[in-house]
Amino acid sequence: MPIYRETVIEVDLDKIAYNMEQIRAMVGKDVKIAAVVKANGYGHGAVGIAPAIMEHGGDLLCVATLTEAIELKEAYPRYPVLIMGLTPTEYFPAVLDYNILQTIDTLAQAKALAALARERGATAGIHIKYDTGFHRIGFPDAPKSYTAIEEISRMEGLKIEGIFSHLVLLDDESNRQQYEAFSRAVRTLKERGVALPCCHLADSIASVDYPRYRMDMIRAGAIIYGLKGFHKGSLDVRQALTFKTKINHITEIKAGEGVSYDFVWRSDRDTRIGTLPFGYADGYPRNLRGKAMVTVRGKQVPVVGVLCMDQCMIDLGDVPKAQIGDEVIIYGDGTGNTLDIQAVSVLAETNKNDIVARLTARPPRIYRKDGKIAEIRTMIGRKSI
Ligand SMILES: *Cc1c(COP(=O)(O)O)cnc(C)c1O
Repeated sequence: MPIYRETVIEVDLDKIAYNMEQIRAMVGKDVKIAAVVKANGYGHGAVGIAPAIMEHGGDLLCVATLTEAIELKEAYPRYPVLIMGLTPTEYFPAVLDYNILQTIDTLAQAKALAALARERGATAGIHIKYDTGFHRIGFPDAPKSYTAIEEISRMEGLKIEGIFSHLVLLDDESNRQQYEAFSRAVRTLKERGVALPCCHLADSIASVDYPRYRMDMIRAGAIIYGLKGFHKGSLDVRQALTFKTKINHITEIKAGEGVSYDFVWRSDRDTRIGTLPFGYADGYPRNLRGKAMVTVRGKQVPVVGVLCMDQCMIDLGDVPKAQIGDEVIIYGDGTGNTLDIQAVSVLAETNKNDIVARLTARPPRIYRKDGKIAEIRTMIGRKSI
């Protein structure tokens, strides 16, 4: 199958597998690992990476939306999938069709899902979301919520498979307060006879930095992809993604000539301008204008002028041997004078998750295993090799 494009995202499945094994070694065998693959697996391609995750210690796949869950269930009906966000009740039939685990945070949602499940003679698996201070979604931390959750636990057609909360990650003290609030709720509910088989709180950062908050399961996102946001603990994970392209045009310009919209950049010397066939529509941050660097022949060169939607230009003045067809590393792993995702996120004044989650469907995803290409996924098809 042709790739049809020079701008590609390569994903090293061996690194994903390695990262999963490191995470498993860190948490031990008694803590489950929920792998967060929302936003198309943080840009890596959720369907492309799911087997590497599940075959190397993943217990559950977590997504944000129903569409993301259905995409995974269509590809892998047997992998358990949890939607961590809320689904409008009108779409609950699809939740049941695909046997997806749904997050619930009101009595009304629970009643609606239970009624539908009973009609079908089925049982819907749910996780209860409990708000310990983030104030995004979740039952409020109050006695009336205990009563509601207790009622849900007795509903025919539903099975509570877990309960979870999410940390603000402000500081040690606020984390501890949230953990205590969550633990208190879990304890109270269990004392009232509510079965809560899987209590989970920690995301990537919390699961590395605060071992105590791992509880029954961690929800690991960033660390699966080798993105390290933690600062207290340590974990040897490796970036799995490389974003690269090729020079497809070279223009010679004179000192004083400008490049791209509005001539926000003009060259102060005679130079050669290389054109690269990627732009902000591929998910590259447009606000990197004036700051972006890419790597050609082992040398970092500046992206000059305004970034266009589909193309951008680089100054090749310091790489006289550069020619059309040369490989250009946009996001590397930091070796070979490349910028890794951490470095790019600093330049773009955002976080690492944002840099990868914004990668769009347009660049083909090329999956490598044992050093060889194992699968290619493009917007119009896929092929295993
Ligand atoms: C996205 C998300 C995670 C994973 O976050 P990372 O920082 O990437 O580990 C965990 N839990 C919830 C509820 C999320 O939305």
